This record gives sequence, structure tokens and C-alpha cells, in this order.
Amino acid sequence: MQDRYGRIIEYMRVSVTDRCNLRCVYCMPPEGVESIPHSEILTFDEIERVCRIGARLGITRIRLTGGEPLVRRNLPELLGRIKRIEGIEQVCLTTNGILLSDYIDELVSNGMDGVNISIDTLDEEKYRHLTRGGDLRKALRGLEDALSYPQLHVKVNCVPLDNSGGKDWISLAGLARDSRTDVRFIEMMPVGLGKNFRGKNREEILAVLSREFGRFEEYSGRLGSGPAVYVRFPGFQGRIGFISAVSHRFCDSCNRIRLTSAGMLKPCLQYGAGADLRKLMRGGEADEQIEAVMRETIFYKPACHHFADRENMTEEERRLIEEKEMSKIGG
Ligand code: SAM
Ligand code: SF4
Repeated sequence: MQDRYGRIIEYMRVSVTDRCNLRCVYCMPPEGVESIPHSEILTFDEIERVCRIGARLGITRIRLTGGEPLVRRNLPELLGRIKRIEGIEQVCLTTNGILLSDYIDELVSNGMDGVNISIDTLDEEKYRHLTRGGDLRKALRGLEDALSYPQLHVKVNCVPLDNSGGKDWISLAGLARDSRTDVRFIEMMPVGLGKNFRGKNREEILAVLSREFGRFEEYSGRLGSGPAVYVRFPGFQGRIGFISAVSHRFCDSCNRIRLTSAGMLKPCLQYGAGADLRKLMRGGEADEQIEAVMRETIFYKPACHHFADRENMTEEERRLIEEKEMSKIGG
């Protein structure tokens, strides 16, 4: 459906848990976040119901995320249930990859269309430090196993933090040279602990990569459901993408909404506002009522975020700023 600014909203990111098996420095504090009790997390039936109603409103693509979605028991079953909903064309997953090898067969047999694996560095020691204990070899095994399914669209997402002359960016981009992986650099957003870090922008990274890999070809237009801008270097199998929410705001063409693990439907990442669908479902509301609330939430999606220009926020927007960690919202 269209929101009040005429944007077509067709993509929903669904967080299935706020728990995670890693503690990335810009996403979670070392002790982890206080977990939402199980009873407050949406059940599979409830998630499926929201997706079904979303499909009636024009949602065609779903991405399962978290926290770490693969720590939620029976995730492939949920994926299959969503994939079978009439109107849902694509179901993808965003994961840190640590458990991916264990579940990839089941995820694919349940209809997964694509997987994004978050890897910020290919240096084992640095990875362990950034994730506070993660084993890079497991994430890379997950990537390799995902690539063994030719029908699967595979991307690696990196939130660049590198201050060492871009060595990490060059080695990560190498994955797109050596395999059909698209490698995307995602600018740090000032959400949760991300506020403590300075993001790296597209221009800084491209300057480093083009010194290493030569002249790139630009893609005009977009690929997939997201806001990434892509380039390709000579001889590369995969593309290099940039998602630069702060330095290159793309709110005019935003097509997404988010469902948190506790059942809040959020129309924009920057604001805490949203509709409490769990309360409605557990209060016995009919599908029609929930659909009406979802329709209104989508319709009134904010025009834009103000990550880079807080001074332009209205008083109302300032009051609504999201204070939760990314793992709780569903990045
Ligand atoms: N655990 C899964 C993973 O790491 O892919 C899924 C959830 S995680 C919150 C989704 C993505 O959000 C990851 O690629 C992570 O690097 C990114 N992320 C977390 N905090 C961020 C921030 N402040 N700005 C930009 N991206 C962020
Ligand atoms: Fe976990 Fe993903 Fe956050 Fe890292 S970015 S702590 S893997 S939720």
C-alpha cells in the first residue's frame, strides 16, 4: 500500500528475537541486553498472522532478523510458514552466520530466497574482539555453505569501523571478486550503541577500493528490496554495495516497516513510535481490526529520519526518538 507521501510499502523486516550469540561492540553491551521474557515475544502463530495481514496490505517481501534469528528454535519452520502465505514472494534472512551451517539445508528446503551474513572483518583476532568472542571460521563456513546453493542470493554486510587504512574493506571486497557474493558496506547509524561510533561513508571506502581494484562501473537504479547503491570492479563476480542512511538519506524511496520481536509495528527506525500488535492480538481483536491499525501505521510513516540533522527535528519528533539497541529493534 502507499503511505501518505505516496511511497509504496512492500517490505517488512521481522525480528524474531532480541537475543544473540554475539556481542558486537556497536550493537550490544558486553553483558548482553536484558532479554524480553518469552511470554512477551510473539509466537510463530502471531508472527505468521501479522505477515498474512501484511500481505493483504501489499507486503510481498519479508526479512527475518533479530537479535540473532538462528538462536530462535525452529526458525526454518517459521520461514516456511511465512513463505507459504499468499502474496509473499520472498523470504530472506539476516544472520551473523555463526549457526548458518547447522540450518542452511532446512532453511533452503523451506523456501529461503536469500541470506545476508554480517561479517565486519576477515581478521580472526579483530573479529573476536569486535564480536566479543565470535569465531570467524564459523561465519565463513556458513557463507561457504550458503554459496553452495546456486539459487540462493548471498550477501555479506559489513559495518565498517576500520581505522587501519582500509585493509578490512579490501579483504572483504575480495569476497565479491572470488565468489558470487555481493558485499555491502553499511554506514553506522546513531541508533543504540552505534551512537558511540563514527561511521565510514561511501566515498571514503570507494577511494580505498578503487586504489586497490581499479575503476569501477556504476549501477544506475536499485537492485533488490533495499536502498543499496551498487558498483562493480573489473573481474569481480559479485557487486559492491553501499547503504548510507546517514550521509545519503534515502527516506524518499523507503519501502519498509519493521515488526519487533515483542510485536511493535514500527514505521521508521529512528522513532520509538509504533502500533502494539501483540496487545491487539492477545486482546482478541479480529484480523480486520489489526489490518486497520497496520494500515494507519503505514499510512502515517514519518517523512524521514533526522540522523544527520537533529536540529531540523520538530518537538514531537524529538520526543519520539528511539532509545533501544539495534538488536531490540531488529536491524
Ligand atoms: N544478528 C544478525 C546480524 O548480525 O546480521 C541480525 C541482526 S543485526 C542487528 C542486523 C545488522 O544490523 C547487522 O549487519 C549489524 O551489523 C547491523 N547493525 C547493528 N547496529 C547497527 C548500527 N548502529 N548502524 C548500522 N548497522 C547496524
Ligand atoms: Fe548480535 Fe547482530 Fe547485534 Fe552482532 S549485530 S550483536 S550479531 S544482533
